Parts: sequence; structure tokens; C-alpha cells
Amino acid sequence: MNKCTDNRCAADFMDVASLRALQLERLQKIVAHTYNNVEFFRKRMDERNIKVSDIKTLDDIQKLPFSKKIDLRDTYPFGLCAVPMSEIVRLHASSGTTGKPIVVAYTKEDLEVWNQVMVRGLAGAGLSEKDIIQIAYGYGLFTGGLGAHYGSEALGATVVPASVGNTQRQVMLMRDFGVTGICCTPSYFLHLIEQAALAGIDMRDLPVRVGIFGAEPWSQGMREQLEKGAGIEAFDIYGLSEIIGPGVAIECTEHSGMHIFEDHFYPEIIDPDTGEVLPDGELGELVLTTLSKFAMPMIRYRTRDLTRIIAEPCKCGRTIRRIDRISARSDDMFIIRGVNVFPSQIESALLTVPGVTANYLIILTTEKGMDNIELQVEMSPEAFSDQVKVLEGLQRNIAKAVESVIGLRIRIKLVAPQTIARSEGKAKRVIDQRLKN
Ligand code: ADP
Ligand code: ZN
Repeated sequence: MNKCTDNRCAADFMDVASLRALQLERLQKIVAHTYNNVEFFRKRMDERNIKVSDIKTLDDIQKLPFSKKIDLRDTYPFGLCAVPMSEIVRLHASSGTTGKPIVVAYTKEDLEVWNQVMVRGLAGAGLSEKDIIQIAYGYGLFTGGLGAHYGSEALGATVVPASVGNTQRQVMLMRDFGVTGICCTPSYFLHLIEQAALAGIDMRDLPVRVGIFGAEPWSQGMREQLEKGAGIEAFDIYGLSEIIGPGVAIECTEHSGMHIFEDHFYPEIIDPDTGEVLPDGELGELVLTTLSKFAMPMIRYRTRDLTRIIAEPCKCGRTIRRIDRISARSDDMFIIRGVNVFPSQIESALLTVPGVTANYLIILTTEKGMDNIELQVEMSPEAFSDQVKVLEGLQRNIAKAVESVIGLRIRIKLVAPQTIARSEGKAKRVIDQRLKN
């Protein structure tokens, strides 16, 4: 058992009965706070004739109405704030991957909670005050940069606030400062590895040993490319602005799901079509309730992220439950010839084939009135020099692997290394040029 040596992680190992009692106490408090201070929420409860006092057990949470991203948009910017502006010390906005940004707010205490969960997560990944951590998430309204920054600082580590961009300089900083941990999107780290190689630096020779990667879905194949390419241990971290930012859940060194800091973020899994709550272990949409965030509490927020709760005890000894890797974000889904497809499905199939990199792009077009899908894939430099025959074989293998997952034969176009545009934040995997009618 790998008990965390940082005593700030104690809540991760709390006995389950005390954890449930703490969750209930916090739930009752946050529901009362939200009811009393957010008109939008009060109206919804009143309409359903639900009283704060109806929340007597954790299961009673199911009586409460869901909230959705549209609620944040409809009340933009501050309609869901539950404290006066004088108590709000920070605003962030979601990165706007899916439309108009939404605003989130924090009190001083909320920021403290954010720091605490980040400290627990980073410590669980084996980082400590002895580490030098480079933050290569964007700084600014996006929660990734500042969330990882202040969390690492609270851990006591030495923080290098590199932000995104200027990739060659990032590599230089990593080398010159002896950076041992890095926080960024997995796709950006892949880019850093490549850029280092172009500058004649093998990332495996640098002291960096831990990568904390999140903000976008990534596959097991991607993990292998990152770990092998840089000689590091990669940890999946999950979060979203509406709930707090990064640090909602993170892997421990067992790497079998992400421990969710459920003393602060209460998880449920629902059937996305019916809203019915599903038992632990079943795949569905993750719904989160913030148990200790006061500026902008979220009650039963539908994340649109698909995963399942892993309730079995983890070998690490943590008692907080885990969620599985986010298998898909329902916003990313596209429909092609009647089939629902997630880019993450294509990525996992693609990366089972040797000779390709995790740099890919899905292009949807209309040809002769029909939907067409093409997958552009960058070859590894070694595969690139192969003969045409070998490349044709590679193409066929990719097509087969993808077909076995999505049930569609799609066109594969192999492209030279370094030809697909790199993103500094969340990677853009799909270009939809289909004619809309
Ligand atoms: P936006 O909705 O504009 O992307 P955020 O920056 O708050 O706003 O991003 C949160 C979303 O990013 C999550 O809901 C999820 O879809 C995705 N995400 C974050 N971390 C991960 C992760 N580790 N794996 C997969 N998806 C992730
Ligand atoms: Zn664990």
C-alpha cells in the first residue's frame, strides 16, 4: 500500500462512514446556501415543491433538479452567484470549446478548497516541495493555468509559470531549470517532445519524471507515446470550470482510474437520455455537486462527460472512489452516415497500430451529397521513410483498426511528420466542412 506521506492527503484515506457523514453535512449546508441566495435555483426547487429540509440522506440528492451549461449561459454573467461581489475574489471563464464562454466565481475559501484538492492530487502523483513544476497550461481566464499554478505553489514546489506557446523556450526552461514535473494538455506535451527532438534534445535525458495531463480526452496509446517519448510517469487529471477547474479527480500511482475528491465534489452517474441515476460501475454521464464551493455552487451539474464510478477499493488505500478515464465528451460526438462517433474512439483504435503518432485530424466533408470522413494521420519519422508498399499496408491496418471500433470503413490519409497543426491548449481533432441544410 502506497500511503501518501503528505499529511494534507488524510481526507483521501478517511473511513467511508465518516466520509459519507461529512458529505451529507456539506450537502445540506450547500443546498440551504444555494436555496437562500440564488433565485434561479430557489424557483426550480419551489416549482417542484422540494424543501431544503427534504435532504435527509445522501440519496435525497436525487430529488434536486439538474443544472446544465445552458443555465450558466442564461444567467450570464453573475446570475448564479450566491455571495455578494465583495466576497468574490476571482473570476474565470470556461475556455469556450463549445460556444459562448461561461463565467465562474470564487471566494477566498473556494480558492483554498481548490488549492487543497490540487495539493492532494499532486502529492498523490509523487510530487512534493522538492520538485520543480512547469505549468504549460494557458494562464488567464482558462482555469488550467492558475489552478495548476497555485496548487503547485501550495504544495511547496518551485513553480515555473511558463504558460503556453514559445515551445522551444519551454524545452530550454525544462532543461536549464531541471524541471521535474510538468502540467499541460497531453497533446501539447507530445508537441514539446517533438520540438525538443528537433532541437537535438532527447526529453528522456532531462530530469522531468512526472507529467500531469488533462483538459482533453486522451487514450492509453497516447499515454504510452508520452511516457516512452519522455521517460516520465503520466497522470490523468480531470476538472471543469463549472465545478472548480483542474483537480476534481486525478490518478494515483496505480493508474487505474482517477480518484475523485468526493468530500468536495459529489459524483453521480446518470443515463443521459432519461436522467435516471445508474449504479456504480455503469457507464453514463457524470453529474457533480460542489459540496464546499460558496461563490457559485453547482447542484447536480450535468458535465456531459461520459465515464463510470469505480467503487472497488484501490490498491493505494484511498477510500475516495474513482472515475474511469473520460471515455468521451458528448459535445465532441459527431454523426456520420447514421453512426455516432467520438474522436476518442478513433484515437484509441489508431494508436493500436505501430508506426503512427498521436497527431491526427478528422475531416468531415460532403461529397456527391453524402457525408464523407477522412482521417489524416502523421506517420512516425521511421515509418515515413518506408516504401510505398509498406505504407499501403499501414493505411489498411489503420482503416481496419478504426472499423473494428466504429463499424465504418473510413478513408485514411497518411501525412508527413510535422504537417498537422499543433495546438497549445486543447487539441482540435475534428474539422467539419459538411454542407448544412
Ligand atoms: P470547455 O467546456 O470550454 O472546454 P473547461 O476548460 O472547463 O471548458 O473544460 C472542461 C472539460 O474538459 C471537461 O468537461 C471535459 O470534457 C474536458 N476534460 C478535462 N479534463 C479531462 C480529462 N482528463 N480527460 C478528458 N476530458 C477532460
Ligand atoms: Zn488509488
